[in-house]
Amino acid sequence: MEGTKLISVEKVTCTHVRVPLLTPFVTATETVTERESLIIEVVDGDGICGYGECVAFSTPWYTEETVYTAKYALKEWLLPKVCEETYKHPREFFESTRQYKGNYMAKASVDLALWDLYAKKQQVPLSSLIGMNRSQVEAGIVIATETEGQMLADISKAIEKGYKRYKIKISPGNAFDRVQAVRRKYPDLPLMVDANGTFSTDQQDELEKLDRFSLLMIEQPFDTSRWLAHQQLTKQLATPICLDESIDSVEAFELAIALEAADVYVVKVGRVGGLSEALRLANMAHGNGVPLWLGGMVELGISRAHNVAFATHPAFRYPPDLSETSRYVAEDVTAPPVVVEKGYIQTRTEAGIGFKVKREWMQSYRIDEWSVSVN
Ligand SMILES: [Mg+2]
Repeated sequence: MEGTKLISVEKVTCTHVRVPLLTPFVTATETVTERESLIIEVVDGDGICGYGECVAFSTPWYTEETVYTAKYALKEWLLPKVCEETYKHPREFFESTRQYKGNYMAKASVDLALWDLYAKKQQVPLSSLIGMNRSQVEAGIVIATETEGQMLADISKAIEKGYKRYKIKISPGNAFDRVQAVRRKYPDLPLMVDANGTFSTDQQDELEKLDRFSLLMIEQPFDTSRWLAHQQLTKQLATPICLDESIDSVEAFELAIALEAADVYVVKVGRVGGLSEALRLANMAHGNGVPLWLGGMVELGISRAHNVAFATHPAFRYPPDLSETSRYVAEDVTAPPVVVEKGYIQTRTEAGIGFKVKREWMQSYRIDEWSVSVN
Protein backbone atom coordinates (compact mmCIF):
# COMPACT_ATOMS: atom_id res chain seq x y z
CA MET A 1 0.00 0.00 0.00
CA GLU A 2 2.62 2.48 1.13
CA GLY A 3 3.85 4.76 -1.59
CA THR A 4 1.43 3.58 -4.25
CA LYS A 5 -0.51 6.86 -4.47
CA LEU A 6 1.24 10.07 -5.36
CA ILE A 7 0.79 13.15 -3.22
CA SER A 8 0.13 16.10 -5.48
CA VAL A 9 -1.03 19.26 -3.70
CA GLU A 10 -3.19 21.58 -5.80
CA LYS A 11 -3.81 24.24 -3.16
CA VAL A 12 -2.38 25.06 0.22
CA THR A 13 -3.85 27.55 2.68
CA CYS A 14 -2.23 29.03 5.77
CA THR A 15 -4.56 30.47 8.41
CA HIS A 16 -3.05 32.54 11.21
CA VAL A 17 -5.23 32.33 14.33
CA ARG A 18 -5.07 33.78 17.83
CA VAL A 19 -6.97 32.11 20.68
CA PRO A 20 -7.21 33.10 24.35
CA LEU A 21 -6.07 30.39 26.81
CA LEU A 22 -8.45 29.58 29.65
CA THR A 23 -5.61 29.95 32.14
CA PRO A 24 -2.13 31.41 31.58
CA PHE A 25 0.69 28.93 30.94
CA VAL A 26 3.51 30.19 33.19
CA THR A 27 7.15 29.17 32.69
CA ALA A 28 10.35 30.71 34.03
CA THR A 29 10.84 32.73 30.86
CA GLU A 30 7.35 33.53 29.55
CA THR A 31 3.67 33.66 30.49
CA VAL A 32 1.49 32.56 27.59
CA THR A 33 -2.07 33.97 27.76
CA GLU A 34 -3.03 33.74 24.09
CA ARG A 35 -2.01 31.03 21.66
CA GLU A 36 -1.21 32.12 18.14
CA SER A 37 -0.93 29.37 15.58
CA LEU A 38 -0.66 28.74 11.85
CA ILE A 39 -3.02 26.11 10.48
CA ILE A 40 -1.98 24.54 7.18
CA GLU A 41 -4.52 22.94 4.87
CA VAL A 42 -3.33 21.04 1.79
CA VAL A 43 -5.84 19.90 -0.84
CA ASP A 44 -5.12 17.45 -3.64
CA GLY A 45 -6.80 17.01 -7.05
CA ASP A 46 -9.43 14.65 -5.58
CA GLY A 47 -10.42 17.33 -3.03
CA ILE A 48 -8.93 15.41 -0.09
CA CYS A 49 -7.67 17.76 2.68
CA GLY A 50 -4.75 17.28 5.05
CA TYR A 51 -4.07 19.44 8.11
CA GLY A 52 -0.96 20.53 9.95
CA GLU A 53 -0.25 23.11 12.67
CA CYS A 54 2.80 25.24 13.32
CA VAL A 55 3.64 25.13 17.06
CA ALA A 56 6.07 28.07 17.21
CA PHE A 57 5.18 30.61 19.91
CA SER A 58 4.54 34.33 19.40
CA THR A 59 7.97 35.33 20.78
CA PRO A 60 11.30 33.46 20.79
CA TRP A 61 11.23 32.41 24.48
CA TYR A 62 11.20 28.69 23.71
CA THR A 63 13.01 28.44 20.38
CA GLU A 64 14.33 31.07 18.00
CA GLU A 65 11.47 30.35 15.62
CA THR A 66 8.23 32.31 16.14
CA VAL A 67 4.82 32.35 14.47
CA TYR A 68 6.06 35.36 12.49
CA THR A 69 9.34 33.85 11.26
CA ALA A 70 7.47 30.66 10.37
CA LYS A 71 4.88 32.66 8.47
CA TYR A 72 7.62 34.31 6.44
CA ALA A 73 9.32 30.98 5.64
CA LEU A 74 6.00 29.42 4.64
CA LYS A 75 5.05 32.32 2.42
CA GLU A 76 8.40 32.78 0.70
CA TRP A 77 9.66 29.21 0.27
CA LEU A 78 7.74 26.31 1.76
CA LEU A 79 4.18 26.71 0.45
CA PRO A 80 5.27 27.46 -3.16
CA LYS A 81 7.56 24.41 -2.89
CA VAL A 82 4.83 21.98 -1.79
CA CYS A 83 2.67 23.07 -4.74
CA GLU A 84 5.51 22.63 -7.23
CA GLU A 85 6.38 19.05 -6.37
CA THR A 86 4.83 15.59 -6.33
CA TYR A 87 5.76 13.10 -3.61
CA LYS A 88 5.54 9.34 -3.26
CA HIS A 89 5.75 9.67 0.52
CA PRO A 90 5.34 12.62 2.96
CA ARG A 91 8.98 12.34 4.14
CA GLU A 92 10.15 13.54 0.71
CA PHE A 93 8.91 17.06 1.52
CA PHE A 94 11.38 17.55 4.40
CA GLU A 95 14.19 16.12 2.27
CA SER A 96 13.28 18.49 -0.56
CA THR A 97 13.57 21.51 1.77
CA ARG A 98 17.10 20.81 3.05
CA GLN A 99 18.31 23.70 0.88
CA TYR A 100 16.48 26.01 3.33
CA LYS A 101 18.28 25.89 6.66
CA GLY A 102 16.42 25.61 9.96
CA ASN A 103 12.79 26.80 10.12
CA TYR A 104 11.85 23.34 11.40
CA MET A 105 8.54 24.36 12.96
CA ALA A 106 7.44 25.94 9.68
CA LYS A 107 8.53 22.82 7.75
CA ALA A 108 6.81 20.58 10.29
CA SER A 109 3.43 22.23 9.75
CA VAL A 110 3.51 21.27 6.05
CA ASP A 111 4.98 17.82 6.74
CA LEU A 112 2.11 17.10 9.17
CA ALA A 113 -0.51 18.21 6.64
CA LEU A 114 1.03 15.86 4.07
CA TRP A 115 0.96 12.92 6.52
CA ASP A 116 -2.73 13.55 7.22
CA LEU A 117 -3.44 13.73 3.47
CA TYR A 118 -1.38 10.59 2.83
CA ALA A 119 -3.27 8.58 5.46
CA LYS A 120 -6.63 9.86 4.19
CA LYS A 121 -5.74 8.89 0.61
CA GLN A 122 -5.10 5.35 1.86
CA GLN A 123 -8.23 5.56 4.04
CA VAL A 124 -6.36 4.48 7.16
CA PRO A 125 -5.92 6.18 10.56
CA LEU A 126 -2.63 8.05 10.85
CA SER A 127 -1.72 5.97 13.91
CA SER A 128 -1.74 2.81 11.79
CA LEU A 129 1.11 4.26 9.68
CA ILE A 130 3.11 5.13 12.80
CA GLY A 131 2.73 2.88 15.75
CA MET A 132 1.11 -0.11 17.19
CA ASN A 133 -2.61 -0.71 16.97
CA ARG A 134 -3.45 0.91 20.27
CA SER A 135 -6.99 1.95 21.09
CA GLN A 136 -5.78 4.37 23.73
CA VAL A 137 -2.65 6.22 24.89
CA GLU A 138 -1.65 7.41 28.35
CA ALA A 139 -2.16 11.06 29.31
CA GLY A 140 0.46 13.16 31.11
CA ILE A 141 0.05 16.73 32.33
CA VAL A 142 2.18 19.86 32.70
CA ILE A 143 1.35 22.13 35.62
CA ALA A 144 2.66 25.62 34.80
CA THR A 145 1.28 28.10 37.34
CA GLU A 146 2.31 31.39 38.90
CA THR A 147 1.89 30.31 42.52
CA GLU A 148 2.56 27.23 44.60
CA GLY A 149 -1.07 27.21 45.83
CA GLN A 150 -2.40 27.14 42.27
CA MET A 151 0.09 24.38 41.42
CA LEU A 152 -1.23 22.16 44.22
CA ALA A 153 -4.85 22.90 43.27
CA ASP A 154 -4.15 21.99 39.62
CA ILE A 155 -2.41 18.76 40.62
CA SER A 156 -5.38 17.79 42.77
CA LYS A 157 -7.77 18.35 39.82
CA ALA A 158 -5.51 16.37 37.47
CA ILE A 159 -5.36 13.44 39.92
CA GLU A 160 -9.15 13.20 39.71
CA LYS A 161 -8.77 12.69 35.95
CA GLY A 162 -6.28 9.92 36.59
CA TYR A 163 -3.35 11.46 34.67
CA LYS A 164 -0.46 9.01 34.56
CA ARG A 165 2.43 11.49 34.90
CA TYR A 166 2.78 15.02 36.40
CA LYS A 167 5.30 17.69 35.48
CA ILE A 168 5.84 20.98 37.26
CA LYS A 169 7.88 23.93 36.03
CA ILE A 170 10.80 25.05 38.18
CA SER A 171 13.42 27.79 38.09
CA PRO A 172 16.38 28.75 40.29
CA GLY A 173 15.14 29.72 43.73
CA ASN A 174 11.77 27.93 43.63
CA ALA A 175 12.76 24.39 42.64
CA PHE A 176 13.33 22.88 46.09
CA ASP A 177 10.30 24.53 47.70
CA ARG A 178 7.94 23.56 44.91
CA VAL A 179 9.01 19.94 44.80
CA GLN A 180 8.94 19.69 48.59
CA ALA A 181 5.40 21.14 48.65
CA VAL A 182 4.18 18.50 46.17
CA ARG A 183 6.01 15.65 47.88
CA ARG A 184 4.59 16.53 51.32
CA LYS A 185 1.08 16.14 49.96
CA TYR A 186 1.71 13.42 47.36
CA PRO A 187 4.75 11.33 48.33
CA ASP A 188 4.21 8.73 45.58
CA LEU A 189 2.95 10.86 42.67
CA PRO A 190 4.76 10.09 39.36
CA LEU A 191 6.37 13.52 39.35
CA MET A 192 9.02 15.26 37.26
CA VAL A 193 10.28 18.81 36.91
CA ASP A 194 11.15 21.02 33.94
CA ALA A 195 13.58 23.93 34.29
CA ASN A 196 13.41 25.07 30.63
CA GLY A 197 17.17 25.64 30.67
CA THR A 198 17.09 28.35 33.35
CA PHE A 199 19.81 27.03 35.68
CA SER A 200 23.47 27.93 35.45
CA THR A 201 26.09 25.46 36.64
CA ASP A 202 26.68 27.83 39.62
CA GLN A 203 23.11 27.14 40.73
CA GLN A 204 23.48 23.38 40.49
CA ASP A 205 23.38 22.77 44.25
CA GLU A 206 19.61 23.38 44.23
CA LEU A 207 19.24 20.63 41.62
CA GLU A 208 21.42 18.29 43.67
CA LYS A 209 19.03 18.73 46.60
CA LEU A 210 16.19 17.36 44.44
CA ASP A 211 17.81 13.91 44.43
CA ARG A 212 16.01 13.01 47.68
CA PHE A 213 12.52 13.41 46.16
CA SER A 214 12.41 10.33 43.86
CA LEU A 215 11.57 12.37 40.76
CA LEU A 216 11.03 10.60 37.45
CA MET A 217 13.48 13.05 35.90
CA ILE A 218 14.78 16.63 35.79
CA GLU A 219 14.10 18.10 32.35
CA GLN A 220 16.44 20.56 30.62
CA PRO A 221 18.25 22.06 33.63
CA PHE A 222 20.75 24.06 31.53
CA ASP A 223 20.59 26.00 28.28
CA THR A 224 20.15 24.28 24.91
CA SER A 225 23.78 23.98 23.85
CA ARG A 226 25.26 23.09 27.27
CA TRP A 227 26.01 19.48 26.25
CA LEU A 228 28.96 19.02 28.58
CA ALA A 229 27.21 20.52 31.62
CA HIS A 230 24.31 18.11 31.08
CA GLN A 231 26.68 15.21 30.59
CA GLN A 232 28.38 16.05 33.90
CA LEU A 233 25.12 16.40 35.84
CA THR A 234 23.85 13.11 34.37
CA LYS A 235 26.89 11.36 35.86
CA GLN A 236 26.53 13.15 39.17
CA LEU A 237 22.84 12.81 40.08
CA ALA A 238 20.83 9.69 40.84
CA THR A 239 17.73 11.37 39.36
CA PRO A 240 17.57 10.86 35.57
CA ILE A 241 18.37 13.97 33.52
CA CYS A 242 16.21 14.63 30.47
CA LEU A 243 16.92 16.81 27.43
CA ASP A 244 14.09 18.66 25.68
CA GLU A 245 15.07 21.98 24.03
CA SER A 246 18.53 20.59 23.17
CA ILE A 247 16.97 17.94 20.91
CA ASP A 248 16.16 20.28 18.04
CA SER A 249 16.98 17.80 15.26
CA VAL A 250 17.70 14.13 14.63
CA GLU A 251 21.38 15.07 14.43
CA ALA A 252 21.27 16.71 17.88
CA PHE A 253 19.75 13.49 19.22
CA GLU A 254 22.57 11.45 17.67
CA LEU A 255 25.09 13.74 19.34
CA ALA A 256 23.32 13.48 22.71
CA ILE A 257 23.34 9.68 22.58
CA ALA A 258 27.04 9.62 21.65
CA LEU A 259 27.89 12.00 24.52
CA GLU A 260 25.55 10.26 26.98
CA ALA A 261 24.45 13.79 27.72
CA ALA A 262 21.24 12.65 29.45
CA ASP A 263 19.34 9.56 30.59
CA VAL A 264 16.02 10.36 28.89
CA TYR A 265 14.94 12.46 25.88
CA VAL A 266 11.88 14.34 24.67
CA VAL A 267 10.88 14.51 21.03
CA LYS A 268 8.68 17.36 19.85
CA VAL A 269 7.37 16.85 16.37
CA GLY A 270 7.41 20.56 15.51
CA ARG A 271 10.90 21.19 16.79
CA VAL A 272 12.62 18.42 14.80
CA GLY A 273 10.95 19.32 11.47
CA GLY A 274 7.79 17.22 11.44
CA LEU A 275 6.52 13.69 11.78
CA SER A 276 8.96 12.31 9.19
CA GLU A 277 11.97 13.41 11.22
CA ALA A 278 10.29 12.62 14.56
CA LEU A 279 9.71 9.05 13.37
CA ARG A 280 13.34 8.75 12.33
CA LEU A 281 14.31 9.93 15.83
CA ALA A 282 11.84 7.58 17.57
CA ASN A 283 13.05 4.62 15.53
CA MET A 284 16.64 5.50 16.45
CA ALA A 285 15.71 5.67 20.16
CA HIS A 286 13.83 2.37 19.93
CA GLY A 287 16.70 0.64 18.12
CA ASN A 288 19.26 1.89 20.62
CA GLY A 289 17.15 1.26 23.72
CA VAL A 290 17.25 4.96 24.63
CA PRO A 291 14.29 6.15 26.77
CA LEU A 292 12.13 8.66 24.91
CA TRP A 293 8.81 10.37 25.47
CA LEU A 294 6.60 12.73 23.50
CA GLY A 295 6.42 16.41 24.47
CA GLY A 296 3.66 18.97 23.97
CA MET A 297 3.62 22.64 22.95
CA VAL A 298 0.43 24.05 24.53
CA GLU A 299 -0.89 23.36 21.06
CA LEU A 300 -4.28 23.53 19.40
CA GLY A 301 -6.30 20.55 18.22
CA ILE A 302 -4.54 19.73 14.97
CA SER A 303 -1.11 19.31 16.51
CA ARG A 304 -2.75 17.51 19.44
CA ALA A 305 -4.44 15.12 16.97
CA HIS A 306 -1.11 14.32 15.35
CA ASN A 307 0.38 13.74 18.80
CA VAL A 308 -2.39 11.33 19.79
CA ALA A 309 -1.47 9.27 16.71
CA PHE A 310 2.30 9.56 17.26
CA ALA A 311 1.96 8.61 20.96
CA THR A 312 1.20 5.03 19.81
CA HIS A 313 4.84 4.58 18.70
CA PRO A 314 6.57 1.76 20.62
CA ALA A 315 9.65 3.91 21.45
CA PHE A 316 7.85 5.90 24.14
CA ARG A 317 8.68 4.82 27.69
CA TYR A 318 6.84 7.51 29.67
CA PRO A 319 3.37 9.02 29.27
CA PRO A 320 3.41 12.01 26.86
CA ASP A 321 2.64 15.68 27.58
CA LEU A 322 -0.84 15.13 26.25
CA SER A 323 -3.78 16.54 28.14
CA GLU A 324 -7.40 17.15 27.27
CA THR A 325 -8.68 20.00 25.10
CA SER A 326 -10.50 21.78 27.93
CA ARG A 327 -7.21 22.25 29.78
CA TYR A 328 -6.26 25.14 27.50
CA VAL A 329 -9.15 26.37 25.38
CA ALA A 330 -12.93 26.68 25.66
CA GLU A 331 -13.39 25.49 22.09
CA ASP A 332 -10.82 24.04 19.73
CA VAL A 333 -10.35 23.94 15.97
CA THR A 334 -10.97 20.18 16.00
CA ALA A 335 -13.95 18.06 17.01
CA PRO A 336 -14.63 16.04 19.01
CA PRO A 337 -12.58 17.42 21.94
CA VAL A 338 -9.78 15.26 23.34
CA VAL A 339 -10.84 13.94 26.73
CA VAL A 340 -8.94 12.13 29.45
CA GLU A 341 -10.74 9.29 31.20
CA LYS A 342 -9.05 7.30 33.93
CA GLY A 343 -5.73 8.63 32.64
CA TYR A 344 -6.19 7.59 29.01
CA ILE A 345 -7.01 9.25 25.67
CA GLN A 346 -8.72 7.21 22.96
CA THR A 347 -6.97 7.00 19.60
CA ARG A 348 -9.03 7.61 16.44
CA THR A 349 -10.30 4.98 14.04
CA GLU A 350 -11.24 7.40 11.21
CA ALA A 351 -8.83 8.04 8.33
CA GLY A 352 -5.94 10.51 8.80
CA ILE A 353 -5.79 12.46 12.05
CA GLY A 354 -9.38 11.35 12.62
CA PHE A 355 -10.74 14.65 13.88
CA LYS A 356 -13.05 17.06 12.06
CA VAL A 357 -11.54 20.51 11.41
CA LYS A 358 -14.07 23.29 12.06
CA ARG A 359 -14.00 26.02 9.42
CA GLU A 360 -16.34 28.28 11.42
CA TRP A 361 -13.87 28.14 14.33
CA MET A 362 -11.05 29.18 11.98
CA GLN A 363 -13.10 32.15 10.80
CA SER A 364 -13.81 33.28 14.38
CA TYR A 365 -10.15 33.30 15.43
CA ARG A 366 -8.49 34.15 12.09
CA ILE A 367 -6.26 37.20 11.89
CA ASP A 368 -4.75 36.46 8.49
CA GLU A 369 -5.01 33.88 5.72
CA TRP A 370 -3.58 33.24 2.28
CA SER A 371 -3.40 30.44 -0.27
CA VAL A 372 -0.99 29.20 -2.93
CA SER A 373 -2.33 27.17 -5.86
CA VAL A 374 -0.78 25.17 -8.67
CA ASN A 375 -0.77 27.41 -11.75
MG1 LIG B 1 10.30 21.04 28.42
